[in-house]
Amino acid sequence: MASLCSSPGLPLLISAPTVQLLLFLLLLAPSHPQSLTWMQGDPSVEGDSSGENDPLREEELPSEEDPPDIHPKPREEEDSLRSEDLSTVKSPEDTQGHQSSGHKDKKGDGHDHWRYGGSPSWPQVSPACAGRFQSPVDIRPELTAFRQALGPVQLLGFELQPRPELRLRNNGHTVQLSLPPGLEMALGPGREYRAQQLHLHWGTSDRPGSEHTVDGHRFPAEIHVVHLNTAFSKVEAALGRPGGLAVLAAFLQEGPEENSAYEQLLSRLDEITEEGSETWIPGLDVSALLPSDLSRYFQYEGSLTTPPCTQGVIWTVFNQTVKLSARQIHTLSSSLWGPGDSRLQLNFRATQPLNGRMIEASFPAEVPSSPEPVLDCFATPFLPGDILALVFGLLFAATSVAFLVQMRQQHRSATQKGVSYSPAEMAETGA
Ligand SMILES: [Zn+2]
Repeated sequence: MASLCSSPGLPLLISAPTVQLLLFLLLLAPSHPQSLTWMQGDPSVEGDSSGENDPLREEELPSEEDPPDIHPKPREEEDSLRSEDLSTVKSPEDTQGHQSSGHKDKKGDGHDHWRYGGSPSWPQVSPACAGRFQSPVDIRPELTAFRQALGPVQLLGFELQPRPELRLRNNGHTVQLSLPPGLEMALGPGREYRAQQLHLHWGTSDRPGSEHTVDGHRFPAEIHVVHLNTAFSKVEAALGRPGGLAVLAAFLQEGPEENSAYEQLLSRLDEITEEGSETWIPGLDVSALLPSDLSRYFQYEGSLTTPPCTQGVIWTVFNQTVKLSARQIHTLSSSLWGPGDSRLQLNFRATQPLNGRMIEASFPAEVPSSPEPVLDCFATPFLPGDILALVFGLLFAATSVAFLVQMRQQHRSATQKGVSYSPAEMAETGA
């Protein structure tokens, strides 16, 4: 879609080549500020977004070598999801340090020894990370399959009381909020889950850090609420089982106002800046951290985005984004520290190849696809900027034609008077 937006009108066919060129330039320049905004930073369209492509990022992010991406885009980043996705299982305390530095692994159990970018590669940490059906992925709305049976996601018991308090922890890979029993979620009839924990993925002050991308566009941040199928009592038992775990994901984007729900978490980050530290915060309305529209989403089966990268996870990525103020996004991306002396930033994994998987949509996404900007783009093929460019182009063309006509008339009149303005060759011929 981005590409569609980027190529507005066609050049007019007017005689003088110069006029055509100018018109073409005029038409291209001004248009679609919105779609540009939407696409900016996104690597995608043909590249990937956020830096993944760029060399800089590669250094920062460590990469794991996961399966190559289908699209040119994603992959460069390195991974980032992590066991945090898994909820609970064991809280990772791992390290990550994507940014540079080393990581020191701390804990001992296999899966904890990993980090974003750098070594060891994730498949070395967990072979499952080289699997064929991994997450995150790049979502191309126009390629999704609309499935009418996908009704609104149902949440029950997500509005928690201040007591008991909840544990908020910096595990070195992300900030994770442990959720108490009782938060029930249903993806549909018979598809019932219980929320375990939630955590976030982010970038830096000037780089987006969502894990999933839409048409290659990466958002500033992403929230994951990890759920365990009610058929299992422990995460460990559900790991690897199709549908054993389900993650609700939403993109966080900058908006004009402060988000009071998120402020309850963000205002406490200064208490857990150090890796492995934790604090306790009053219970809050967890549903307020998600979009208000739970009926429009994309869904597919993937994996945990951090080691052990176990597959069989049902991903539901909401179409509507959640808005945080610029200050809040900055707070999220600049408050925590990971392993070593590295900042906890860019904690996202590169997008993974679909390898034949079909992403379903609960709404017809072919045209108006996900993120709002795209919608605007499709809704108005010709924005005011295009129309202005067209008008000025036509005026310029008309003026040029009039000028040429006048020149010709003057030429004729001069020739008649015996004064020749013809090219030299013509003059010689005449002689
Ligand atoms: Zn996650």
